[in-house]
Amino acid sequence: MMKYYILFGPPGAGKGTHAGAISEKYNLKHVSTGELLRAEIAAGSPLGLQAKALIDAGALVPDEIVEGMIESVFDTVKGVDGFLLDGFPRTIAQAEALDKILAARGEEVSAVVSIMISDDVIRERIAKRAAVEGRADDASEATISNRIATYHAQTEPLIEYYKNNGKYHQIFGDGATIEVNRAKVLDLMASLQ
Ligand code: AMP
Repeated sequence: MMKYYILFGPPGAGKGTHAGAISEKYNLKHVSTGELLRAEIAAGSPLGLQAKALIDAGALVPDEIVEGMIESVFDTVKGVDGFLLDGFPRTIAQAEALDKILAARGEEVSAVVSIMISDDVIRERIAKRAAVEGRADDASEATISNRIATYHAQTEPLIEYYKNNGKYHQIFGDGATIEVNRAKVLDLMASLQ
């Protein structure tokens, strides 16, 4: 069986920061739907054009777009022991679609690894990242507020969804250093093997 881990958490929790260490250690393909969308925008594709306005507003792109991206990664990536999904699913509809996509392959979600931080820490982290990475959606106060609201309204309900099927595991990602938080995430991953 392939492994399908969901790296979950609000924007700025450190999903992208810790994904490399996890995927390297467990031979997983790291799949960030946000990164895939930013690549489409950079390439100037029609999909990128459609996504850009939504991303810049701090809204989600339509479920079908990211579901299609995820499915095509599952179809094409070989030579790994599994996948580390970062930023997907973000809605209940996406979680249900993921369950269907995996069931059709005789597979299932292995576990959800959740990195939790408060709204105040989200704002601090995104402000720091804006200075380093130059993401358009990190630069505007209105966009950040919308992403936080979008997280609470559309993504947070996934916690109950995955608690109900026993797959939800959480650590707090508000330690003082990246190393402290990474050690917690890797300890949690180790406990799931
Ligand atoms: P991220 O890099 O994960 O913070 O994603 C950046 C932006 O891309 C989000 O604020 C959304 O606008 C969009 N996005 C990324 N993943 C998804 C998803 N699973 N569903 C809908 N929109 C997404």
